Amino acid sequence: MNRKAPLKDEDPEIYEQIQNELKRRREGLELIPSENLTSKAVLEALGSILTDKYSEGFPGRRYYGGNEFIDKIEMLAIKRAMKAFKVPFANVQAYSGSPANQAVAFAVLKPGETLMGPDLPDGGHLTHGWKANFSGIYYKSVPYHCRADGYIDLEEARKLALEHKPKLIWTGFTAYSREFPFEEMAEIADEVGAYLAADIAHIAGLVVAGVHKSPAPYAHIITTTTHKTLRGPRGAIIMATDKGLSKEPELGNKIDKAIIPGLQGGPHNHQTAAIAVALHEAMQPEFREYAQQIVKNCKALAQALMENGLKIVSGGTDNHLMLIDLTPHGKGNGVFAQEALDAAGITVNKNTIPQEPSSPFYPSGIRLGTATVTTQGMKEREMKQIAELMAAVIDETRQYQLPEKKEERTAYIANFKKEIQANPRIMGTRQRVKELCSGFELY
Ligand SMILES: *Cc1c(COP(=O)(O)O)cnc(C)c1O
Repeated sequence: MNRKAPLKDEDPEIYEQIQNELKRRREGLELIPSENLTSKAVLEALGSILTDKYSEGFPGRRYYGGNEFIDKIEMLAIKRAMKAFKVPFANVQAYSGSPANQAVAFAVLKPGETLMGPDLPDGGHLTHGWKANFSGIYYKSVPYHCRADGYIDLEEARKLALEHKPKLIWTGFTAYSREFPFEEMAEIADEVGAYLAADIAHIAGLVVAGVHKSPAPYAHIITTTTHKTLRGPRGAIIMATDKGLSKEPELGNKIDKAIIPGLQGGPHNHQTAAIAVALHEAMQPEFREYAQQIVKNCKALAQALMENGLKIVSGGTDNHLMLIDLTPHGKGNGVFAQEALDAAGITVNKNTIPQEPSSPFYPSGIRLGTATVTTQGMKEREMKQIAELMAAVIDETRQYQLPEKKEERTAYIANFKKEIQANPRIMGTRQRVKELCSGFELY
């Protein structure tokens, strides 16, 4: 072992796989809407010596010595979060988005109390009350849904809130392509006296840039990841709004206490520093242009996909993502589309659609977004090309149908994968994807 050797020499096995991952990204189109490409400065902070320091507690009140600079770093991250999102309180220590949401539930609910959130198959997140998640096991969970047209069913949400009197209501989604209805959900929460928590994990970058409505005037609590449209390191921020602090003056303290001693130990200081850098970048004028272009690209991509005969949930998008509804090709066809696109070097994820006729594991849609390709510098022209490439690939999956019998599915899908790998139209598309990508930088 040599503590001073570069990774390449110290651990060639890991080094090689990182190089392989880089090559995979260089040669393919990354359309997963929860991903992005961080800047050199963010990566530098993330890879810094700060990872070595313990600092349980908060700036000015730590359980360990030697934290004078860590305090300054965390204060910068907190101040920048407050400025970027226009809120009076921020906690930057949650390890990621899921633990942040867990901390919110821990802060405002007792075990067994009721929370309400968007159902997972309708675009909600696991942590909004899904039955297999802590949020659906330790709390009584009431899910609300989307209508067949893809928009949130606000009438149902109001009815359920009046009936079940939840103490916490989540608004915010992981797969919803329209403007989040913060104002309408706030009316419902206020009517039943619930906390409204807005989870803006996906759209945070758009909110900071003013390209999506901010939840700050409407919600009591805001959570976000920092690694999606915000373009920072993996991480999260939990915020309390003015409205939240006037409902409960101790809300900030409750959130801090939920993080530590409630759920976590020492904060990840390298991550905190990188979050601070990402927030600094997100408040620059260039970032606003970036966020505007994400949405322009997404609308152009949705339009071009529809012109190529594909069905988009709700008929379009207001943000950085969309869902393609593949039910015209067959129930559960998201599985085939994801695999075939992957074989062609286009990375998306299979996803349930509102009123999903199949299941979360064999869903009928795919979810895709434009945050990453926009970071690379792609514009509307490339979106048209991407739509054509995607339509050609998805066309090749039309002939496949998910077997009704569950025990037949694994073998059927294995055979499908083999055929796809040998499909000349898909391999031709892979080459064209590679050519398109070669004109754009990743890092
Ligand atoms: C991504 C996401 C999360 C979870 O973030 P992780 O960092 O993956 O734990 C939570 N809520 C929403 C809405 C998300 O999209």
